Amino acid sequence: MDRPLKYIYFDHAATTPVLPEVMDAINKCFTEFYGNASEPHLPGRQAKEMLENSRELIAGALGANPSEITFTSGGTESDNLALFGAAEAYKKQGNHIITSEIEHPAVSMPLKALARRGFKISFVPVDRFGMVDPCDIEKAINKNTILVSIMHANNIVGTIEPIEEIGKILKEKNIIFHTDAVQTFCSAKTLVDELGIDLLSISGHKIYGPKGVGALYIRKGTKIMPHIFGGGQEKGRRSGTENIPGIAGLAKAAELGQRNMDAKIKKLTGMRDYLKNKLLDSVEEVRFNGHPEKRLPGNCNFSFKYIEGESIVLKLDIGGIAVSSGSACSSSSMKPSHALVAMGLSNEEAFGSLRVTLGFENTMEEIDYFLEVTKKTIKDLRKISPLYKK
Ligand code: PLP
Repeated sequence: MDRPLKYIYFDHAATTPVLPEVMDAINKCFTEFYGNASEPHLPGRQAKEMLENSRELIAGALGANPSEITFTSGGTESDNLALFGAAEAYKKQGNHIITSEIEHPAVSMPLKALARRGFKISFVPVDRFGMVDPCDIEKAINKNTILVSIMHANNIVGTIEPIEEIGKILKEKNIIFHTDAVQTFCSAKTLVDELGIDLLSISGHKIYGPKGVGALYIRKGTKIMPHIFGGGQEKGRRSGTENIPGIAGLAKAAELGQRNMDAKIKKLTGMRDYLKNKLLDSVEEVRFNGHPEKRLPGNCNFSFKYIEGESIVLKLDIGGIAVSSGSACSSSSMKPSHALVAMGLSNEEAFGSLRVTLGFENTMEEIDYFLEVTKKTIKDLRKISPLYKK
């Protein structure tokens, strides 16, 4: 099979391209609706209208009220605002927070910072599929528990967590519930009442929108202490002149993302299962990571024995394909993915992992080309691996 002319992008969990309609919405706000939304004159009023329309759109997609949406600079800030904000607001009632062992660093790092300030953090385990057991959350609750943060879906293995069940437990006990829905917004149902959520984080660049913009849903009545102070924008919860182009882009991406969502999920799930089955059939000693059914529609995660995911990523890049290794390796520290280790994978299995995340613009031809190149890549890498005995 010839190499396609176009570079193949299979790393949608990392980020997505911006859709042309989204670019149009963004550009309009730079050139036409460029006003400062706090000013009373016409350009200011136009910007304000753009802001409030966008808020309504995001609220609609979450089944929320527009007054419950606060715009931020992305998923990381939404998570930080939720966790620091709720911890600070409820600290008189208790100092105990529960989370899972597989959260994104945008959640685990603020919680570690809160631990250094005297909060007690309980990390509940996950099973071999990366699934949290709601009973473990129930068991971890004590009289000082003020907040629980469990991600809606894991960004490495795509497992979708039992948020509704956890929500029911927490509602009964009146404990604030935050979920990081950065990976699920527009890829799964994220209606806040159905999920039983008080705080929910989303990000623009995972849904074919711009980077550097996101939102936090804050249920009416849930207290949040701001951590960015200034001109009092976003009802004082997040000061700073509103990023109208980014916000309009986020809203347009959400509008498009919600449109025909069920059909897009069906298409993605079909492509994902095809890719998974073909790869498992044609490559030996490979493990499929994450939950077999309860997972993000576009996510595949494999562990290949005897070789490293990083080597596969580099080889596939040369072959014109972008994928990701499951290991969070920064140049300074080569550490296996904490999520894979928490699921019980050995270091070798975790280092041998490869994340392939599809988007709705991908095609079956691209998947077939990926399968062909990957099979050859694995064969070649195993041939030179000192661990491979055959
Ligand atoms: N949470 C999850 C689950 C993510 O996958 C990401 C991005 O990778 C983030 C939070 C951070 O979002 P952002 O890049 O918008 O700060």
